[in-house]
Amino acid sequence: MPDVLVIGDGPGGLSAALFLAKNGLDVVVVGEDKTAMHWALLKNYLGITEMLGSEFQKVARAQVEALGAKIRSVHVESVTKDGSAFKATLTGGESVSAKYLVLSEGRTPRIAKQLGLVFDEAKGIATDRDARTSIDGVYVVGREARPARSQAIISAGDGAAAALDILSREKGKDFADWDEPPKA
Ligand SMILES: Cc1cc2nc3c(=O)[nH]c(=O)nc-3n(C[C@H](O)[C@H](O)[C@H](O)COP(=O)(O)OP(=O)(O)OC[C@H]3O[C@@H](n4cnc5c(N)ncnc54)[C@H](O)[C@@H]3O)c2cc1C
Repeated sequence: MPDVLVIGDGPGGLSAALFLAKNGLDVVVVGEDKTAMHWALLKNYLGITEMLGSEFQKVARAQVEALGAKIRSVHVESVTKDGSAFKATLTGGESVSAKYLVLSEGRTPRIAKQLGLVFDEAKGIATDRDARTSIDGVYVVGREARPARSQAIISAGDGAAAALDILSREKGKDFADWDEPPKA
C-alpha cells in the first residue's frame, strides 16, 4: 500500500509528490495530464524566466518520476474511508489505498466534495497553513483550496507545505527538506 495517494497532476499535486518521494515515502499520483498549465505561458514562476506550461509539466512529471513517485494516467471515480486508509476507485474498477490523501483537483473538486468537504466558490476548501482539512489525513492544495488565487507557484508551494506536514508526522518531528552543495 502506498503511503500517499495524490489526486491531481498539476503543479500542486506534482510538487507534493516531489517532496514526498524525494524523502522516502511511497507515492502514487493519479491524473491524466489535463491541467490548466497546458494553456499557460509562465513568466511569473520565480527562477524560470519564461516557459510554456506544457514544457513545465513535462519537466515536472519527469522530475517526480525520477525521484520514485508513480504517475498513473487514469481518472479517480471515488474515494472512501476504509479503516485507517483512503481507498480510491479508478476508472476500470481498480482500487488504490493509502494512509494519506493529497487532493489537487484544480477547478473541479469532485472528490473533496464527495468526502464531505465544503467547497465555497470564492474561498475554496478550508485548510490550515499546512493544507490540512477537517478530515484527518486529507490535504487540499492549489486551486481547489484558493480558486481566487490560482497561480502555479502558489499551488506548488501548497503542495510542498502538505508534503512537509506529512513527512513531519511520519518522522515524529518537524522536517525540512534542505540540501547543500558538495564541500570543495
Ligand atoms: C489560460 C490560462 C493561463 C494561465 N497562465 C498562468 C500563468 O501565466 N502563470 C501562472 O502562475 N498560472 C497560470 N494559470 C493558472 C495555472 O494553470 C493554475 O494556477 C495551476 O494549473 C493550478 O494548479 P493545480 O495543481 O492547483 O491544479 P490544476 O493544474 O488544475 O491540476 C489539477 C489536475 O487534477 C486532475 N484531476 C482532477 N480530478 C481528478 C480525478 N478525479 N482523477 C484524476 N485526475 C484528476 C485534472 O485533470 C488536472 O490535471 C493559467 C491558467 C489558464 C487557464
